[in-house]
Amino acid sequence: MKSGNALVIGGGVAGLCAGIYLRRLGFGVEILEQHSLAGGLATAWKRGGFTFENCIHWLVGSKDGGQLNAAWKEVFDVSRLVFFEDPVFEVLERGTDRLTLYRDPGRLEAELLDKAPQDAAAIREFVGLVRKIARLRMPEGDSLLRNALAGLGLVPLLPLLSRYGKLTMADYSKRFSHPLLRAFFSAGMGELSFLAIVFTLAWMAQGNAAYPVGGSLRLVRLLEDSFRNRGGALRFGARVERILVEGGRAVGVALQDGETRRADIVVSAADGHATIFDMLKGRFTNGRIRRKYETYKTFPSYLQVSLGVGADLKGEPGTIVLFPDEIIRLDPDTTAESLTCRIFHFDPTMAPPGKTAVTCLLPTYNEPYWSDLRRQDPARYEAEKLRVAAAVTAAFEARFAGARGRIEVVDVATPATVVRYTGNWKGSMEGWLYTPATGIRPLPCVLPGLRNFYMVGQWIAPGGGLPSALMTARSVSKRIARESGIRWKLA
Ligand SMILES: Cc1cc2nc3c(=O)[nH]c(=O)nc-3n(C[C@H](O)[C@H](O)[C@H](O)COP(=O)(O)OP(=O)(O)OC[C@H]3O[C@@H](n4cnc5c(N)ncnc54)[C@H](O)[C@@H]3O)c2cc1C
Repeated sequence: MKSGNALVIGGGVAGLCAGIYLRRLGFGVEILEQHSLAGGLATAWKRGGFTFENCIHWLVGSKDGGQLNAAWKEVFDVSRLVFFEDPVFEVLERGTDRLTLYRDPGRLEAELLDKAPQDAAAIREFVGLVRKIARLRMPEGDSLLRNALAGLGLVPLLPLLSRYGKLTMADYSKRFSHPLLRAFFSAGMGELSFLAIVFTLAWMAQGNAAYPVGGSLRLVRLLEDSFRNRGGALRFGARVERILVEGGRAVGVALQDGETRRADIVVSAADGHATIFDMLKGRFTNGRIRRKYETYKTFPSYLQVSLGVGADLKGEPGTIVLFPDEIIRLDPDTTAESLTCRIFHFDPTMAPPGKTAVTCLLPTYNEPYWSDLRRQDPARYEAEKLRVAAAVTAAFEARFAGARGRIEVVDVATPATVVRYTGNWKGSMEGWLYTPATGIRPLPCVLPGLRNFYMVGQWIAPGGGLPSALMTARSVSKRIARESGIRWKLA
């Protein structure tokens, strides 16, 4: 069979990457996106002259020749991004207690040993592991020789990966007695695999996880241009309600407005739960898939309080985790002991000259509270947003004297916002949480009993993130090429 027509549901990063790969293989591709812009979770919004970033802290693959860099180059012109690499990953601060987490392992170790000498053994073990992983090159790409060499390099580390892969962040936190180090490992997502932070710091140590200036909007614009310039069609306001199936084959989709679109293959880059249980009515699944949806934990949802500050906050950390005196109550089930603030003085596109955009992230698993409140009592929903914003603003102003009385814009996004604009199940910020139980083994990209249908994106790759959006799109496109009898040769 030669390449035919493909419909891609969802214009997030996975949908755009899948669209580009399929175009490069010769398929006619239409991406159907429910929202009025592409990007999904990788987005930002403009308010009163400020741009508030929702996603990118770092892009793995930013380094020329680094891991994943070649794959990003397959989907867009990476040289058009300007990367900023902060030497500091983040600063942790409680009152006068302060820890700076550097990206460079040597500086990180020196800082931690200086501030927490009582934890020397755990610090050396942790940083030593980061160093080992940073020296590693994971198998990727199409070169059998390179994959084999990478695989060989991995072998001596397998016992370590297996041992530490059984630990959560909360487990590892018990190794420390310094309160900020303990909090860093246990606050927020304590169930996250310990290896997640090790790999993140290792990519940073490699200089391969920098921030693209212009953030998500810039990245997504380049992907969108790459897709359109290759002749792909991207349609907005196109919410898919059903996937049409005839004789065990996906043959198209039905949109919310009743229109139907037919195609040779259908790829869903939308939320996994909605795809399997709503668009396909749960008809093509099995015990294994159901069990994962019943037992795997998702990443939390979140509130984001964004502040437009009429002052230049240069000199302050780019990312700071504050432990304010007062715990912030988010919703009936959730309180926040810490507040992660990103101070975008490093990105001039985010604010007018002399001003600074700030975003503060507050995770919660109580998405139903926010979605129900928004539907049932819009006035109280707004009041609740204002209440949380006031608490966050107070904590921020208490720490940053330069911002006091100079906050010009306050914007609050809630889990209900995440669900409305991206459709993600439970308002999850990255799909499945990567835990010792999930590992990083992907979920199936095809469903039992259904041909000509594939899934890509964060819901088939525990841990989520932009790399998994890219790499699932790549591997699924390869599979489609193979099953269609097409050579994997990108035009
Ligand atoms: C606060 C935050 C910080 C993050 N930081 C980073 C980071 O620093 N680095 C990193 O790599 N990752 C980060 N991530 C994760 C990353 O943003 C996501 O994992 C990634 O963008 C997921 O892409 P996706 O295309 O798989 O899914 P999504 O972005 O969810 O895209 C799905 C798309 O499908 C559309 N859709 C859904 N249902 C339908 C339907 N029925 N019909 C039509 N369209 C539909 C949605 O509107 C959406 O556009 C962060 C995420 C958050 C929230």
